Amino acid sequence: MDTRFFVTWMEEITAAVRAARDHLTRLDAAIGDADHGTNLDRGFSAVAEALAARPPATPGGALVLAGSTLIRKVGGASGPLYGTAFREAGKTLGETPEVSTAELAAALEAGLAGVRRLGGAEEGDKTMVDALAPAVRALARAVHEGGTAGEALDAAAAAAEDGAKATIPLQARKGRASYLGPRSIGHEDPGAASTALILDALRTVGSR
Ligand code: ADP
Ligand code: MG
Ligand code: MG
Repeated sequence: MDTRFFVTWMEEITAAVRAARDHLTRLDAAIGDADHGTNLDRGFSAVAEALAARPPATPGGALVLAGSTLIRKVGGASGPLYGTAFREAGKTLGETPEVSTAELAAALEAGLAGVRRLGGAEEGDKTMVDALAPAVRALARAVHEGGTAGEALDAAAAAAEDGAKATIPLQARKGRASYLGPRSIGHEDPGAASTALILDALRTVGSR
């Protein structure tokens, strides 16, 4: 996976977030403040613009630029969290021009660690961590089992999707939704849903 791959991933996320904007905002209307779709649409539109204006030289450079842009452009909790995830992932890739599936798994692992450090959420707290953590695990497992890149990205996307759906019966313990207490039960977490979308975009780019 080269620089072009990572830029295309960011473009794919931008398009997917645009298409799912109202859906993500509706999820956030149920247990938050109804801005998750608009937050991410604004953020990833800015990411696509930044990548076009300052074409990165490496995969890591693409992810660091995406992360910094999200931190700058998104006011909500998701901006710093996703921003940190992409920046940490990018820093882990360093200057390498070509990323293996194993290196991608290590990078996403570092991204997850950044989200946990910043937000303090554990799995089961009904946040984006509930989609990202199983995706990272599935990717690492697929690498360990020696599957193809396509199989690994498939497994990660499916795990994120399952993780997002599994937030529905949970009570939120972090973020705005936690203010609702038991009333947060019965709704999919918007950040977990957008994480599933980000991993689905990765699978799409990987399957081309
Ligand atoms: P805000 O809640 O500030 O309006 P968004 O609506 O853009 O921000 O994002 C909300 C999402 O952010 C939640 O659905 C959840 O997945 C994620 N989130 C919030 N707080 C945390 C946290 N402490 N750790 C991990 N994820 C979090
Ligand atoms: Mg919100
Ligand atoms: Mg908000």
